[in-house]
Amino acid sequence: MSDKSPSEITRDTLMLLGTRKLVPNPANFRAAYCEVAGVPDDPPFPDEALRKMTQALPVRMPLHQKLKAQIDGAIRRGNWSELQAALISYVEAGGTVAAPVEARGSTELLEPIARLVENTLPALGTDDARIAEQATRLLEALRTPGSAIVALKTMLGNFNLRVSFAAEDQAEIRATLLKLLHLIIENIGALSSDDHWLKRQIDALMESATPPLSLRRLDDAERRIKDVMYKQTEAKGRALEAQEEMKRMVAMFIERLTLMTEATGMHHRRMEENARLIEQAKSFEDIAPVLKDLVAATRDIAQSVGRAHQEMREMRDKVQATEAEITRLHQELDSVSTQVRHDALTGALNRKGLDEAMVCELADVRRKETPLCVSLLDIDNFKKLNDTRGHATGDAALAHLSTVTRDSMRPQDTLARYGGEEFVVIMPDTELDQGVEAMTRLQRELTKRFFLAGDDKIVITFSAGVAQFAPEESADDAIKRADQAMYLAKRAGKNRVVAA
Ligand code: GH3
Ligand code: MG
Ligand code: MG
Repeated sequence: MSDKSPSEITRDTLMLLGTRKLVPNPANFRAAYCEVAGVPDDPPFPDEALRKMTQALPVRMPLHQKLKAQIDGAIRRGNWSELQAALISYVEAGGTVAAPVEARGSTELLEPIARLVENTLPALGTDDARIAEQATRLLEALRTPGSAIVALKTMLGNFNLRVSFAAEDQAEIRATLLKLLHLIIENIGALSSDDHWLKRQIDALMESATPPLSLRRLDDAERRIKDVMYKQTEAKGRALEAQEEMKRMVAMFIERLTLMTEATGMHHRRMEENARLIEQAKSFEDIAPVLKDLVAATRDIAQSVGRAHQEMREMRDKVQATEAEITRLHQELDSVSTQVRHDALTGALNRKGLDEAMVCELADVRRKETPLCVSLLDIDNFKKLNDTRGHATGDAALAHLSTVTRDSMRPQDTLARYGGEEFVVIMPDTELDQGVEAMTRLQRELTKRFFLAGDDKIVITFSAGVAQFAPEESADDAIKRADQAMYLAKRAGKNRVVAA
């Protein structure tokens, strides 16, 4: 400690700053002043700030009051170590700074937890009654203001455990159901192995009932099962009818055959008898009655043969009528098969399937307010392919395009055959430029996965238009816009994608 007067110390401080070429700011001045005066350079005690801060400490019990008085004393005295000890005691007394946060948390946090519990319940099924009980109690506790956190924690822990068991069960149930579904599909497939259309549908069904499952794939599976069931019922009805008819015919044949045999047997015996009588005859008088009987027998035979002919004619008419009936049934089947939702050649949805899928998509879009795109694609120069390679090759090319498209689109996209060589792709959750990009990607994919006609590699190209649904726009209108854009793509030189 220097024995200089304050004014001497100030003067020497300024000189020191000058010789050291230091800027005379408060921090430098203070350091130089302490050095000249020979006192330690301690930072000032921030009593004002500390007082403000500690005033905010809550008083939740009498001990807090006492400790706050100690804190205030330490601040007043500018004593750091005293202040530290008082603050530690306050924290150790418990229920300190965490309390207000917790109080806020009880409404802001517990209500969302309650909603989470409520929303979880429907997914857990109703097999475990204890879950429902626990959930009711937990929800009540969560929504009762001031519930003890420790009790809530225990209840949540227990509920959590049950939920994890239930979730495991649900996963297992799903896997088992899927296995069952596969078995059923396999069985249906085995029953109808002679029908190509059904076989293709069965393969597609197997594919759509394979994890990972999405609502979209289940929807597809459901549509296909409906188609298969429809065809099965038709086929079964036809088979039963044919079987009945056959049974009737066989019975008739047997009956006629028996009658014929009996009749000819009787005549045979009568002829033999007449032959014997003629052999034994000694006079013309003996022969006369035999001849008379022979004439009668011959007439009988003629009549019986005539009857047989008549019956045979009737049978032939019946067979012809049955044949006509079967043809009619086939025609009827063809006309009702419009109820099927998939195109037999390509496996894509047909117009009916497309209409149904559109209704679903539009309902979804209106609910979720997400963008929806639709594309119409038309194969380029398809007539030429048909003309040069034949219709069967054209058919195979259509199936090829359909396979490549389905492989390269996302699982939630839908492919439908719109007409001859025109297809529609529905792309949910897709903006216009993304839709154009997806169709361009499909074009690239088709150049990589060329179509094999015999040994020749043929690249199939298409022109496409893409339209994004406007609010409230109908499926027909959006497809019409996509069609117009497709037409522009054709006019611009084909093998391109144009946005509507
Ligand atoms: P563009 O590039 O302008 O579209 O010409 P394109 O030849 O593809 O079109 P166009 O409309 O002239 O001919 C389409 C052909 O598609 C005519 C029709 O016979 C054929 N077609 C329609 N449906 C089928 C089918 O199921 N199988 C086969 N093999 N051909 C089909
Ligand atoms: Mg066309
Ligand atoms: Mg075409």
